[in-house]
Amino acid sequence: MTDDIKAASGNAEIPPEQMSMNSRFKFKCHKGVSCFTDCCRGIDIMLTPYDILTMRKKLDMSSEKFLAIFTTPQILEKADMPVVTLKLLDDDRNSCPFVEDEDGCVIYEDRPSTCRYYPIGVGSLSYSGEQGEKDEFFFSVKESHCKGFEEDQEWTVADWREDQGIDLRDEVNEGWMDLMVRKKSLPASMKLSEQAKQMFFTACYNIDKFKTFVFESSFLERYDIPEATLKELKEDDVKLLQFGFEWLKVTFFQAETDMFKVKPGK
Ligand code: SF4
Ligand code: SF4
Repeated sequence: MTDDIKAASGNAEIPPEQMSMNSRFKFKCHKGVSCFTDCCRGIDIMLTPYDILTMRKKLDMSSEKFLAIFTTPQILEKADMPVVTLKLLDDDRNSCPFVEDEDGCVIYEDRPSTCRYYPIGVGSLSYSGEQGEKDEFFFSVKESHCKGFEEDQEWTVADWREDQGIDLRDEVNEGWMDLMVRKKSLPASMKLSEQAKQMFFTACYNIDKFKTFVFESSFLERYDIPEATLKELKEDDVKLLQFGFEWLKVTFFQAETDMFKVKPGK
């Protein structure tokens, strides 16, 4: 994921230090730190498509309702692509709607990727092609108010990712990250139409609306999708999300795939 997208946000007052998977750092966050929950206020958290799936499920609401209540639509400037950020409360500290002073995060098991990564950020240098090779780098996000760096627990970046459940999330979001990086790699003059941006928004962030689009529009009159795949897409939102990423890749970037065979005469 690009640094614009997933760098744990806030004002990193200490210059970031570039890291690899094997780089080591000391960090521990717990209720006893004097800064407990400080990092959940006045922040800018970009939500990934998988964050939205899991958070809306936790809150038992439709993706449409979740987006309306908890997010703000934005355009990621460098890629000129739609993203959504978590809408903060209008209190005196601009708190995250899910933070409680005593207990911390009330959706901890389903917290967004950015919150899991913190205090590590991740960037991608360029589009890595179809071979799946990754061109990622990591950096530590050291904010002077964060006391977690004064603790003695040592991690490698790889251990931290595993402990925080980041690997699985990045795997699900990979197609989305790929779309962002591909778009960012194009000349700035190559812009998506407003309709294309809307299509991207729906497929990536509003899964219920995308499901309606796939199953209740002329989509299936155009594409020859096997019955077994359709059954999976109806039952599994993660599969539907990844199907959407592939479809956008074909539609926007003419990527080659067998998944979207156009029916004869369409
Ligand atoms: S130690 Fe850092 S991550 Fe933990 S609550 Fe304090 S500011 Fe947040
Ligand atoms: S989602 Fe949870 S961990 Fe993330 S900022 Fe909000 S309260 Fe903090």
